[in-house]
Amino acid sequence: MSERRIALITGGSRGIGRAICIRLAQAGNDIVFNYQSGAEAAAETKRLCEEYGVQVLAVQADVSTPEACEMLVKQAAEFGGGKIHVLVNNAGITRDNLLARIKDEDLDAVVNVNLKGPFYLMRAVSKLMLRQKYGRIINMSSVVGLKGNAGQVNYAATKAAVIGMTKSLARELASRQITVNAVAPGMIETDMTGAIREEARQQILESIPFREMGSPADVANVVAFLAGDEARYITGQVIAVDGGMAI
Ligand code: NAP
Repeated sequence: MSERRIALITGGSRGIGRAICIRLAQAGNDIVFNYQSGAEAAAETKRLCEEYGVQVLAVQADVSTPEACEMLVKQAAEFGGGKIHVLVNNAGITRDNLLARIKDEDLDAVVNVNLKGPFYLMRAVSKLMLRQKYGRIINMSSVVGLKGNAGQVNYAATKAAVIGMTKSLARELASRQITVNAVAPGMIETDMTGAIREEARQQILESIPFREMGSPADVANVVAFLAGDEARYITGQVIAVDGGMAI
């Protein structure tokens, strides 16, 4: 029998994170994912993953604190018999406004979840992966981290930072067969983009060469590729999944 593969995904209760959990379950990984407050949505993600016959653990954890991240990794490792093969840092939030109107707490909230969360989790998981001499880390950046976007200075800063962390850690871990890559989605249909007004949505669609928004599955398919053995020689890369938005 081949070895169990354990994938830890943050923000798996909804949107892109849920699609990643399902896609990695389909690929045969046992799944640990966290959510912050959506217990019912998390139960639905768990059920959808279990349809693929894998084991699934859903954990409530706020990734903005180091204690919660360390506890999440501990629980995932216990579930995985001491191993975690894949980490997907997907959980993310926005607190959009023009710079002059961004409050300190809106900067802090976005930095804590989008930047510090992945940092704490990579620090904890990489210790295990170094011992295993194997690992796949995939971080969720954004087209906004590549190109910037008016009204998202705080969010853009964190998504650009994710790219810097990805490239730096890729250099640190490559000799141990651990890859670290980032995915930069464009406009994907989720709750995060659901709040955009119709007029703004039309403007955004015009800026996408594909002229349509992407689906969470479009992103999950790329994550699954990077998480698999076929991507073994790819590290430190940022793969845009954006219908051409960042060209
Ligand atoms: P979403 O639908 O808003 O879902 C966010 C997920 O993150 C939920 O599972 C949520 O849990 C979890 N979460 C939020 N804050 C958390 C915290 N403090 N601790 C732990 N979990 C937390 O978001 P999405 O659109 O799927 O986006 C997923 C990722 O892709 C984000 O990093 C986002 O920045 C990035 N992205 C999205 C788009 C897009 O167009 N949608 C484009 C580029 C990049 P609860 O359900 O419990 O709240």
